[in-house]
Amino acid sequence: MKPVVDEELCIGCALCAEICPAVFEMGDDDLSHVIKPDGCQEAGCCQEAAEECPVDAISLED
Ligand code: SF4
Repeated sequence: MKPVVDEELCIGCALCAEICPAVFEMGDDDLSHVIKPDGCQEAGCCQEAAEECPVDAISLED
Protein backbone atom coordinates (compact mmCIF):
# COMPACT_ATOMS: atom_id res chain seq x y z
CA MET A 1 0.00 0.00 0.00
CA LYS A 2 1.37 3.35 -1.01
CA PRO A 3 -0.20 6.45 0.53
CA VAL A 4 -0.89 9.48 -1.63
CA VAL A 5 -1.88 12.90 -0.31
CA ASP A 6 -4.11 14.99 -2.55
CA GLU A 7 -2.60 18.44 -2.10
CA GLU A 8 -5.73 20.03 -3.52
CA LEU A 9 -7.72 18.61 -0.60
CA CYS A 10 -5.23 18.73 2.29
CA ILE A 11 -6.00 21.54 4.75
CA GLY A 12 -2.79 21.11 6.72
CA CYS A 13 -4.34 19.94 9.99
CA ALA A 14 -1.27 17.75 10.69
CA LEU A 15 -3.34 14.87 12.06
CA CYS A 16 -1.80 12.33 9.72
CA ALA A 17 1.70 13.38 10.75
CA GLU A 18 0.70 12.96 14.40
CA ILE A 19 -0.88 9.57 13.83
CA CYS A 20 1.77 8.27 11.49
CA PRO A 21 5.00 10.29 11.68
CA ALA A 22 7.04 7.54 10.05
CA VAL A 23 5.21 8.08 6.78
CA PHE A 24 3.72 11.60 6.79
CA GLU A 25 5.44 14.88 7.53
CA MET A 26 4.22 18.46 7.34
CA GLY A 27 6.14 20.46 4.79
CA ASP A 28 7.15 24.10 4.69
CA ASP A 29 4.06 24.62 2.56
CA ASP A 30 1.90 23.51 5.53
CA LEU A 31 0.68 20.50 3.60
CA SER A 32 1.25 16.87 4.41
CA HIS A 33 3.88 15.04 2.41
CA VAL A 34 4.61 11.35 2.20
CA ILE A 35 8.20 10.98 3.33
CA LYS A 36 8.30 7.19 3.23
CA PRO A 37 5.94 5.69 0.65
CA ASP A 38 7.08 2.15 1.45
CA GLY A 39 6.70 2.63 5.18
CA CYS A 40 3.04 1.71 5.61
CA GLN A 41 3.44 -1.97 6.27
CA GLU A 42 6.19 -1.43 8.77
CA ALA A 43 4.56 1.53 10.48
CA GLY A 44 1.03 0.09 10.38
CA CYS A 45 -0.67 3.43 10.78
CA CYS A 46 -1.46 4.58 7.23
CA GLN A 47 -4.97 3.15 7.31
CA GLU A 48 -5.75 5.00 10.52
CA ALA A 49 -4.27 8.22 9.16
CA ALA A 50 -6.39 7.90 6.01
CA GLU A 51 -9.52 7.22 8.03
CA GLU A 52 -8.92 10.11 10.41
CA CYS A 53 -8.11 12.71 7.75
CA PRO A 54 -11.02 15.16 8.00
CA VAL A 55 -11.13 15.85 4.28
CA ASP A 56 -10.30 12.37 2.99
CA ALA A 57 -7.16 13.65 1.30
CA ILE A 58 -5.21 10.43 1.84
CA SER A 59 -5.69 7.53 -0.48
CA LEU A 60 -3.95 4.18 -0.24
CA GLU A 61 -2.96 2.64 -3.51
CA ASP A 62 -1.96 -0.98 -4.05
S1 SF4 B 1 -4.88 14.57 7.98
FE1 SF4 B 1 -5.52 15.09 5.88
S2 SF4 B 1 -5.93 17.31 5.92
FE2 SF4 B 1 -4.76 16.81 7.76
S3 SF4 B 1 -2.63 17.21 7.17
FE3 SF4 B 1 -3.04 15.03 6.81
S4 SF4 B 1 -3.65 14.89 4.65
FE4 SF4 B 1 -3.81 17.04 5.28
